[in-house]
This record gives sequence, C-alpha cells and structure tokens, in this order.
Amino acid sequence: MASYVVATATLGRTDRGEAAGHWRHRAKEALENGEVPVGCLMVYKDEVVGKGRNEVNETKNATRHAEMVALDQVLDWCWRSSLDVKSVCERIALYVTVEPCIMCAAALRLLNIPVVVYGCRNERFGGCGSVLDVSSADLPHTGTQFKCISGHRAEEAIDMLKTFYKQENPNAPKPKTRKE
Ligand SMILES: [Zn+2]
Repeated sequence: MASYVVATATLGRTDRGEAAGHWRHRAKEALENGEVPVGCLMVYKDEVVGKGRNEVNETKNATRHAEMVALDQVLDWCWRSSLDVKSVCERIALYVTVEPCIMCAAALRLLNIPVVVYGCRNERFGGCGSVLDVSSADLPHTGTQFKCISGHRAEEAIDMLKTFYKQENPNAPKPKTRKE
C-alpha cells in the first residue's frame, strides 16, 4: 500500500526520541498555561513544519486542539514555500502526546496525513480506536486511512494529564472520576 510505504519512510528518517522531547515540551507549556497538556509536532522530510499545543482555554475556542494549531502552521508553511498542501501532507508524520480526538482524526484523514505516533490513549474522545476508529474506518469520501503507532513515551503523557486534572482549573469541565 503506497501510503504505508510513505509512512514507513517518513518515520525512518525521523529521530523519534528527539521529536518526543519537543512534543513533551509543548505539552508542558500547555500545562503551565492552564490547558489540557497535549503537544504535537508535524514533520516533513526531517523538518518540523508545524507544532502546537492545546489553546482551548486561552482562546475560548473548543476546536483549538494542538493538532489544529499545528495544521494551521503547516498550511502557512506550504504557502510560504510554494508547495502543494496535498503532496506535503501525504508525507507528514504527526507526533502527539495523546491519541487524537475524533475531530482531529477526521481532519488528519481529510488532509491525507499517513502516520500518527502518539503517547497515551484518549479514553474520552479518542478518534483512533478508543471511542471511534476514524483512523482506519472504511468511510467513503473522507480522505485516507492513516497508520497509528501508539504508546510512545505514554507514561510521561499520562503523568502530565494527571497533574492537570489534579489542579484546579476554572475553565475545565468538572473532572469525572474514573475507577481504575
Ligand atoms: Zn483534537
């Protein structure tokens, strides 16, 4: 499958450890700014072309997830570099601390991003299998399925989420306590 070959090649050229360091930094920055700690990077040919963290509380806009923030940067980067968005997106690897939600997973599909490496699962909103499987569902006219690689430095992502939910956050919905 062509997209799988691209995904493998993309990952092969990328230093996953280094990428994880950066995404963790973005997530930590979100945490320090009272946001759910999610950070991400989008890498195209060894170059970071988009990076983002949650900006939902800051902007009072529930769609400003890390992936959406990074996607806006990717579009700007394509525009500045005079490159075609579709051909760039088809070669992007997304690194994100938490499994993309249903909204973001749908956006990634529509943009034909072939591979997503994430830390921990998103049991409440996950769009890559936890709640819905947007990433691999057979859906007509909704972009292309993408490959997910989960569990990369998951514990660090979980620790940050736990720290966040322990803090008092006036903007956050009341945390639901879950039995482990
Ligand atoms: Zn999202």
